[in-house]
Amino acid sequence: MQLIKVEDKLSGSKEGLKIIESAIKAQKVSTLGLATGSTPETLYAEFIKSDIDTSEITTVNLDEYVGLAADDPNSYHYYMNDLLFSKKKFKESYLPDGLAKDAEAECNRYEAILNEHPVDIQILGIGTNGHIGFNEPGTSFDSLTHKVLLTESTREANKIYFEKEEDVPTHAYSMGIKSILNAKKIILLAFGKSKAEAIKATVNGPITEDCPASALQNHPDVTIIVDNEAASLL
Ligand code: PGA
Repeated sequence: MQLIKVEDKLSGSKEGLKIIESAIKAQKVSTLGLATGSTPETLYAEFIKSDIDTSEITTVNLDEYVGLAADDPNSYHYYMNDLLFSKKKFKESYLPDGLAKDAEAECNRYEAILNEHPVDIQILGIGTNGHIGFNEPGTSFDSLTHKVLLTESTREANKIYFEKEEDVPTHAYSMGIKSILNAKKIILLAFGKSKAEAIKATVNGPITEDCPASALQNHPDVTIIVDNEAASLL
């Protein structure tokens, strides 16, 4: 694992974009794996400001809430359109379908998309409990795209985006740990004190399903970009 320590979210986002840009310029990126949440927002804002040509790049996202339509303002489809896709042209973009009728068929469909478009660089955030995507503690490292029951801590962390707590979905579709680790290169971003414990467990802890992100220790090309607060327990 390579660790890059930065002052703040803006410099970390610029650092992440630099890595993505040089890989794109070296024509090493056909498919970019994207994440949602507050962590990558600044990265996407910097991406939009840049003149990086993404018109031949396919994107795949980590996850989507079950039960939310693409035009629901709380869906990850909406987030991605709002923050990136409406402002930067990509070749094509995929996310799981929150309204799919058959969960198993949807997971298989998404996994087939990932097989057709192997991820060259995957952007990740991390949950305070060490989750990546919506792979909560206890998720098998062999997991592929699956339907997930969200933990209370994740629903709690995400309720700020919803009007009422009961509006926070209980389930999501998420790429599995194995699907995520299939990416050739992974860039994990973490900013703020609330991520310090999870970063400590990811970098220095044992490789255990109790901390899903610790699986990244098994990957040959991971860069972790952290600000001083997120790195404070290292
Ligand atoms: P955040 O979420 O970027 O909103 O902190 C990250 C995550 O839960 O993976």
